[in-house]
Amino acid sequence: MDCGEGTQIQMQRYGLKWRSVHHIFISHLHGDHYFGLPGLINSMSLLGRTADLHLYAPAALKPIIDGILDVADTVLSYPLYFHPLPDGVALLADDPAFSVTCFPVEHRIQCHGFLVERKTKGRKIVPEKCNEYEIPAAYYDKLKLGQDYERKDGFLVKNEWVTDEGPSPKKYAYCADTLFTDSFIDVIKGADTIYHECTYLEADADKAAARFHSTAKQAAEIAKMADAKQLLLGHFSSKYKELEAFREEAEVIFPNVHVSIEGTAYEV
Ligand SMILES: [Zn+2]
Ligand SMILES: [Zn+2]
Repeated sequence: MDCGEGTQIQMQRYGLKWRSVHHIFISHLHGDHYFGLPGLINSMSLLGRTADLHLYAPAALKPIIDGILDVADTVLSYPLYFHPLPDGVALLADDPAFSVTCFPVEHRIQCHGFLVERKTKGRKIVPEKCNEYEIPAAYYDKLKLGQDYERKDGFLVKNEWVTDEGPSPKKYAYCADTLFTDSFIDVIKGADTIYHECTYLEADADKAAARFHSTAKQAAEIAKMADAKQLLLGHFSSKYKELEAFREEAEVIFPNVHVSIEGTAYEV
């Protein structure tokens, strides 16, 4: 989600593989959200990528990318599919494991947030146990749904003996750059984790509103209104050298809050 300047360098630094990236979502066309994209697209081609890559972004990005490739006479080694973001709430990607929905937020230019929903895949098969109880693989789909298995000899194999609890469904809402607004609360309601920008502290609330950004207090109010379980703060103005004040301001309203630090992984 978003691809600021230096993204490919940071991916290398933190051991993130470009081969595992199949979908890229760009919230809006301020440079801090996409200036790393041309380099990443180009490097994947130089490194011989062949797998499809899906890019979801404001329509105006397509001629920019096409122009960069054209002037260099570059033909990518892989298919790049461009999906322009629609105006409203829309389902963008629907994979067996997850879905991604975009929703409009309020920024100085057109901007979208993204809601990622991990789907539940039912219970997790433990193959060694299934072999031990002589359960045919054809029955695995029923085991995933929680059913027991009755063997031909009448012996009943309890589901919990041969399966583990599967991953639970999760919701992650990335609210991009936005001023304080509850206009998208319905979409992000009940999210396990919300990322919300807070470019400023509340003392600079006027500046935040004028520049279509939010404060830490406002981000916390959104998380509370949305009934979220966890809040990640980010997009801090570079004028602040110390970030602890963001957490302190937010936690008064919403206790489970983290100041997100680049290179750190947070569990949704
Ligand atoms: Zn912006
Ligand atoms: Zn930004």
